Amino acid sequence: MVKLDGKVAIVTGGSRGIGAAIAKELAANGAKVVINYNSSSEAAEQVVSEIEAAGGQAFASQADVSDSKHARVLVEDAINKYGQLDILVNNAGITRDRTFRKLSEEDWKKVIDVNLNSIFNMTSAALAHIQASETGRIINISSIIGQAGGFGQTNYSAAKAGMIGFTKSLALELARTGVTVNAICPGFIETEMVTAIPEEIREQIVAKIPVRRFGKPEEIARGVIYLCQDGAYITGQELNINGGMYM
Ligand code: NAP
Repeated sequence: MVKLDGKVAIVTGGSRGIGAAIAKELAANGAKVVINYNSSSEAAEQVVSEIEAAGGQAFASQADVSDSKHARVLVEDAINKYGQLDILVNNAGITRDRTFRKLSEEDWKKVIDVNLNSIFNMTSAALAHIQASETGRIINISSIIGQAGGFGQTNYSAAKAGMIGFTKSLALELARTGVTVNAICPGFIETEMVTAIPEEIREQIVAKIPVRRFGKPEEIARGVIYLCQDGAYITGQELNINGGMYM
């Protein structure tokens, strides 16, 4: 098992929801964490305060990861502050759900930019540093929607499926270097992304989940820790954490 003491992690979109849970869990396991956010500075500072109160180390860094220049500055921030980078969690994501007939070009491009182009931006900026680590880890937070599709989600589904293809190809390229690259595919997890779904639709979704409940952000965070600590021989995989909704 790899101890995370002394390791440095960037979590994109670490200010809220799943990303905040991942950041806290990484810090609780000894990593120093860079908490990226786009607009929620207060929420990001709150996550930093919680980590520090628990004895961990973290700082918040604003960057729109869909912009390659911002991504480079975010990685530079991490290196300037902590001197190394071992773990990159590409978690930032948005939805703009509309049926294809109503989907605008802007809805398409924005979702592809934030969910998919961001992982190119971040990986490009971070890779040399991660390869310098003996236990480099790249973890991409994809989605069940990238595997199974979703009504009104052609843009999001294409982005999340794209993340899986990226993960497998990069895993092949990096396997000999000791850097592992994996995707986590959450099912429906209780965050603002899911509470924004109308109640009636939420009930219909729960009825289709074999374990009959939404997942918790911490349950995704535990998957990240597993890949970081015990994942030396796990690469190019989709780790499904979805209550049995997609097998
Ligand atoms: P969330 O609560 O809406 O949080 C999204 C996070 O992404 C926020 O921290 C947000 O920061 C950040 N973000 C958005 N656009 C960004 C940008 N351009 N640059 C940097 N950060 C940006 O979402 P969530 O439910 O935790 O989802 C996290 C990830 O899991 C996403 O990739 C999502 O697609 C995936 N996922 C979620 C579910 C689910 O059921 N919740 C299921 C499967 C997959 P700001 O607040 O600063 O904007």
